[in-house]
Amino acid sequence: MIFELSRPGRKGYELPADKYNTDGLKDIPADLLRTQPLDLPEVSELDVVRHYTNLSNKNFGVDTGFYPLGSCTMKYNPKISEELSAHPAFAGLHPLQDADSAQGALELYYNLQHALSSLAGLSEFTLNPYAGAHGELTGLMIMKEYHRSRGDHKRTRVIIPDSAHGTNPASAMVAGMEVVEVKSKPNGSVDVEDLKPLLDDTVAGIMMTNPNTLGMFEIEIMEIAKLVHEAGGLLYYDGANFNPLLGRVRPGDMGFDIMHINLHKTFSTPHGGGGPGSGPVGVRKGLEKFLPNPRVKKGEDGKFYVEFDKDSLGSVSTFFGNFSVMMRAYAYILSLGKENIRNVGPMATLNANYIKESLKDDYLLPIDGVCKHEFVFDGLKDKSTGVTTLNVAKRLLDYGFHAPTIYFPLLFHESMMIEPTETESLETLDEFIEVMHKVAKEARETPEDVKNAPLSTAVRKLDETSAAKNPILTYKGMKSQD
Ligand SMILES: *Cc1c(COP(=O)(O)O)cnc(C)c1O
Repeated sequence: MIFELSRPGRKGYELPADKYNTDGLKDIPADLLRTQPLDLPEVSELDVVRHYTNLSNKNFGVDTGFYPLGSCTMKYNPKISEELSAHPAFAGLHPLQDADSAQGALELYYNLQHALSSLAGLSEFTLNPYAGAHGELTGLMIMKEYHRSRGDHKRTRVIIPDSAHGTNPASAMVAGMEVVEVKSKPNGSVDVEDLKPLLDDTVAGIMMTNPNTLGMFEIEIMEIAKLVHEAGGLLYYDGANFNPLLGRVRPGDMGFDIMHINLHKTFSTPHGGGGPGSGPVGVRKGLEKFLPNPRVKKGEDGKFYVEFDKDSLGSVSTFFGNFSVMMRAYAYILSLGKENIRNVGPMATLNANYIKESLKDDYLLPIDGVCKHEFVFDGLKDKSTGVTTLNVAKRLLDYGFHAPTIYFPLLFHESMMIEPTETESLETLDEFIEVMHKVAKEARETPEDVKNAPLSTAVRKLDETSAAKNPILTYKGMKSQD
């Protein structure tokens, strides 16, 4: 539309009345209306296609190389799920359409809620939140509503382990709760002795990730659940690390009352660059009425309908959440099926342990033992080279691999968190291991090559601090930076 209007020789701003509703234009004061056509660049289709294709070639993505980001689960995103989610029968739906004309979409929504409930061992799920962090906030609001509904107004404190993902304390703060930190033991798991004195009648609950962000399963979880419940608190499960447990261990059975699942991590959706996401929240029996509106239900007649519950904490999203991410998740769950979904965890766990064991001669492993789907190195083992985790991460780009997650978790100075996922081949894992050894050797023999990396990418080492503090976001600004 804008191109059409900006073409030289066109009449200017008269929008074709049969295509666009121009009523609103009458209300804009004449001196604010544009008098000249917009000066947009005119380029040929070929130039546009080449421009974007060349740009995309400069990008790193899971379609171009291994992407071992821990905590992010950059797994294979089946192309058929992309095709399905773009199908006009779904993509063309309007969220205000009446339920009768959107039965298929509501059925998918309903079935996905149930699939997640049975995998989690919880009573009901909402699919409304847009991301894991949004799910955390929603879950904590449910926790607050639960205590408030019982007149238990003192409970304002949330206990969070020092190994937790940063979104946990952030969500608790946004929910208006106070954060209390519980320490981890040297083996990486929550210190139950440190937890005990924190459990008083001001505790609303605890937020835990299991396996935790160090990739270790919290083996004392049943004891922790008992202690927190006895103190009158609830247990929140950060489900970002649900992958290794799929179809084998259920958060509900571990004693968790509320949880979120990151569909874009565990159930595949491309999410590099911050989106799109979906963070469904599940609750145990008794907490369903607090779930956000709208809810999708199934009537006795087998028809699906949308309901607004009066006890609900309200709406947390526009309409129903990120529907296309739900479609991909549903396709992923159905394509694996009940039996194969049980293989996700063991394969992800095997792959992670394979890399860990193959590299621990060159990289410092602060917490030894069998990990789940991810693990953390504390930089290179040989600290005399001066080569940092950041240097190694940049050097990997020169060899065609994305960096692991770096400097998280915060428990170690040189954290390097690696998650291969269940969908990478043995060949890819072996190539990655070989390159990691090669970088460690370079660090010893020619450390400048590693410190100055990346040497072969479209742009060299970026000044990330300036980029964050003084972002230059305009087209013209970018030009002047070239
Ligand atoms: C990714 C992640 C989150 C936050 O999820 P988003 O979908 O990115 O908002 C929370 N906790 C853990 C452990 C995570 O890995």
